[in-house]
Amino acid sequence: MMRAMVLEKPGTELRLVEASEPAPKDHQVVIKVQACAVCRTDLHIVDGELPDIRYPVIPGHQVVGEVTAVGASAELTVGARVGVAWLGWTCGECEYCASERENLCDRARFNGYHVDGGYAGYMLADSRYCFSLDSSEPAEQIAPLLCGGLIGYRCLRLTGDAEKVGIYGFGSAAHLITQAAIHQGREIYAFTRPGDTAAAAFAGELGAAWVGGSDQAAPEPLDAAIIFAPVGALVPKALKDLKKGGSVICGGIHMSDIPGFPYADLWGEREIRSVANLTRRDGNEFLKLARDAKITAQIQTYALEDANAALAALRTGAITGTAVLVID
Ligand SMILES: [Zn+2]
Ligand SMILES: [Zn+2]
Repeated sequence: MMRAMVLEKPGTELRLVEASEPAPKDHQVVIKVQACAVCRTDLHIVDGELPDIRYPVIPGHQVVGEVTAVGASAELTVGARVGVAWLGWTCGECEYCASERENLCDRARFNGYHVDGGYAGYMLADSRYCFSLDSSEPAEQIAPLLCGGLIGYRCLRLTGDAEKVGIYGFGSAAHLITQAAIHQGREIYAFTRPGDTAAAAFAGELGAAWVGGSDQAAPEPLDAAIIFAPVGALVPKALKDLKKGGSVICGGIHMSDIPGFPYADLWGEREIRSVANLTRRDGNEFLKLARDAKITAQIQTYALEDANAALAALRTGAITGTAVLVID
């Protein structure tokens, strides 16, 4: 038997249940979960803001653990240390999968959303979508890299060689990707929620070249902007902060509506783009970069049964860095 935190219907608290340990089939493995980081997407799932959520569901898609059982065709062995991210499975045959864009696969299944995730003692995962990890770093340090870091990396990658990069919303993804960007020689301009002095101080400590409120104009025109806050009004705001040819990258899976804005603000070959999910290539590239850049996650740890408290703290902005469930 194992313990798990289950979402039974939208808008409710997760409930602690005892369930039987899953059994692996075909390419699947069973992972004994050591740590699972908490993501804003988990809040969107709890609030029922994403389509086609399967209920009941165990959330969690930033999992570090050890393989304890393998299916007949699994590509991992018992004892392997692995990370599990958002992308749980893709079809492998559609036009997107065939062109290194598996993140856009229409049939993709996501962990902690379409299939049970890591807010549990054990989880099932497809071995082909697990990331191999070395055993030296603590699980709670690696878990935040697996969504905030990884999606943040895909956003950063889509800014091309932008030197001056604005980041709007300074939470889990931002604090990790700021370290990566500075390691790559870029300058970070951090826009935090007006009045959020803790987030502003945190951005400064991490080496941001400039820190200000999201209601302030950039001190000079930026090459690119990445928006992590789920606030559509930041899109036209960020567009105004850009040089010609610059791009606004929207990193969230859900955002409030984007208000209208003058075409003149988009003129000059500025562009607005979303980032959807991740590919396995993103994951492998980012995990290597994280080691080279010695990225350190600032974490606040919770026990599995305190997942509701972790989600509530994330919702109110009370988490500096990333909340992580540590599971024994
Ligand atoms: Zn996530
Ligand atoms: Zn596909």
